[in-house]
Amino acid sequence: MNIQHSKELYKEAESHLVGGVNSPSRAFKGVSGGTPVFMEKGEGAYLYDVDGNAYIDYIGGYGPIITGHAHPHITKAITNAAQSGVLYGTPTALENNFAKKLKAAIPSLEKVRFVNSGTEAVMTTVRVARAYTGRDKIIKFAGCYHGHSDPVLVAAGSGPATLGSPDSAGVTSNTAKEIITVPFNDIESYREALESFGDDIAAVLVEPIVGNFGIVEPEPGFLEKVNEITHDAGALVIYDEVISAFRFHYGAAQDLLGVYPDLTAMGKIIGGGLPIGAYGGKASIMEEVAPLGPAYQAGTMAGNPASMSAGIACLEVLEDKQLYDKLETLGEKLENGLQNIANNVQVPVQINRKIGALTLYFTSQPVKNYDDADATNGTHFSTFFHSMLEQGIHLAPSKFEAWFLTSAHKEEDITATLDAAETAFQAIKKG
Ligand code: PMP
Repeated sequence: MNIQHSKELYKEAESHLVGGVNSPSRAFKGVSGGTPVFMEKGEGAYLYDVDGNAYIDYIGGYGPIITGHAHPHITKAITNAAQSGVLYGTPTALENNFAKKLKAAIPSLEKVRFVNSGTEAVMTTVRVARAYTGRDKIIKFAGCYHGHSDPVLVAAGSGPATLGSPDSAGVTSNTAKEIITVPFNDIESYREALESFGDDIAAVLVEPIVGNFGIVEPEPGFLEKVNEITHDAGALVIYDEVISAFRFHYGAAQDLLGVYPDLTAMGKIIGGGLPIGAYGGKASIMEEVAPLGPAYQAGTMAGNPASMSAGIACLEVLEDKQLYDKLETLGEKLENGLQNIANNVQVPVQINRKIGALTLYFTSQPVKNYDDADATNGTHFSTFFHSMLEQGIHLAPSKFEAWFLTSAHKEEDITATLDAAETAFQAIKKG
């Protein structure tokens, strides 16, 4: 595949943008290097690069694009919003309409606040939980990404119930001391953390279905126990549903699983592809937020008409229940196909899938937490990734990411993807 123009643009980008990209996950660091492809058009399930190559896209903008690129209903909503002026700095009826729609889909949201990114949404839920409880410490699960605010850029300490250390330069050791990281799906470690620090814990931050070390579901009873132990200690449960809200059904993962948090952070899909975040939860807790309460949070762009319009339009498309049935059908076909080909070619893989999101891990062991995902074969993933890209299949350049199907994918796209996967598995086998 000729990507000459991408190569030139990347070279140019490296002299103007840090690392040539505006988000590190777009660089090919996790796949032994290479040139990130520069895209210039998206339509349905396809992306088109600056050299005129077409790709079947499974990144979906890292999650937001669930209805396919340039969906006509969403595009029309954005166009209409642009023609009415994109920012007023005043409230609009659109914000009411969108909040009502979100609350109807996710009943634990008694009050909502819109922000501009998942990072902001999570960061503020942490602040609100601290304001509400008067406590400082937060528990999170290893390998779960919650955006790039200081409190969540903290790595695990040396044991399950130890205090964290900064996971990024510039995060202070004092910030890290407030964060405790435990393995996902390990209720005993969680209990131990609460026993050691219970009176100081403001909240636990949970991705109810993990998307950030691949797709990993909670073991039966895990989230229920987390809720029980956390509430017994007088702390709050925060669900980070930035990936999972509207990914698996019309609503949040909490409603699918039947376990409910005190606060929820959202982003990605709810913006229909435009910048957005939102957080919400029990009214008594949300009343901590300014202008009602002492926890400050604001935003020039928060609730802007274009993001509200795109989000409402996206949810209108997702209201069609058959859409998620289609994602399940395509997801099953993709999962079974990948598994069969890997078996035939004799490359050990594990596939974790939920509806239209899956992760292909190069390992023979089940993946239930970050350490399991970390132990999978990165060299095999890199070979697979580069072979797929060369054949026009666009996957995220990291063994920890998910493949995201959209409602625009067709059976024939899955067939083409599986054909390419056979070649990619064989490339691994050849070494
Ligand atoms: N939480 C989760 C679970 C995420 O996956 C992400 C982004 N990948 C974020 C928070 C941060 O969202 P954003 O990139 O919109 O700031």
